[in-house]
Amino acid sequence: MVLDLMTASASNTNESYAFNESSPQPHAGAPDKDSSANPRQAVNKSAIENAVRTILEAVGEDALRDGLLDTPARVARMYEEMFAGLHLDPARHLETTFPEEYDEIVLVRDIPFTSMCEHHLLPFTGVAHVGYLPNGRVVGLSKLARVVEEVARRPQVQERMTQTVANMLEEKLNTKGAAVVIESEHSCMALRGVRKAGTLTVTSSLRGIFRTSQASRSEIMTLINVR
Ligand SMILES: [Zn+2]
Repeated sequence: MVLDLMTASASNTNESYAFNESSPQPHAGAPDKDSSANPRQAVNKSAIENAVRTILEAVGEDALRDGLLDTPARVARMYEEMFAGLHLDPARHLETTFPEEYDEIVLVRDIPFTSMCEHHLLPFTGVAHVGYLPNGRVVGLSKLARVVEEVARRPQVQERMTQTVANMLEEKLNTKGAAVVIESEHSCMALRGVRKAGTLTVTSSLRGIFRTSQASRSEIMTLINVR
């Protein structure tokens, strides 16, 4: 089969985000149809600052000493950035598709991401490989990277992140098959607990033909593993 293999970078996080019309998130008060709203306003930074001050004092620090004075505000800004995806619907990036008779695998490999483990609030960092078999329509390649970026920017577990992206592809693009493989290192495993740095956690989520056909599954796995 003909390959369409490319890599894309999802490192641009400075663009302005827009609210989406129908957030699939189960949380109450999903954002309304206001495409100009800024999700940053949805994060209560002063509450985060107070909480960080409380933690600092609880571990026995003096939250008012020079070096720590600006830490609560800094952490609040960081959380605002790390969790920006909570107020966005990544699936909106898959709304615009193009008719295309290409009926081979499309794979965007090595999309870098950083997410936050919801169990420890420590980052996990790695790459996502996102592929699909089109069903008459294709989506812009960079959109796949954007989906990964926004799904990552919320409290996450890698398993759910993998499934979320695969489900979105299948539902929004009506693909014949979708495959998402994520490889990442979890700092909660490296820094605490078993303290095993350098371990890689790999998760995969296969849909459609990649689940039912052994040949299609090996084909996309081979493409993902090409180095
Ligand atoms: Zn963890």
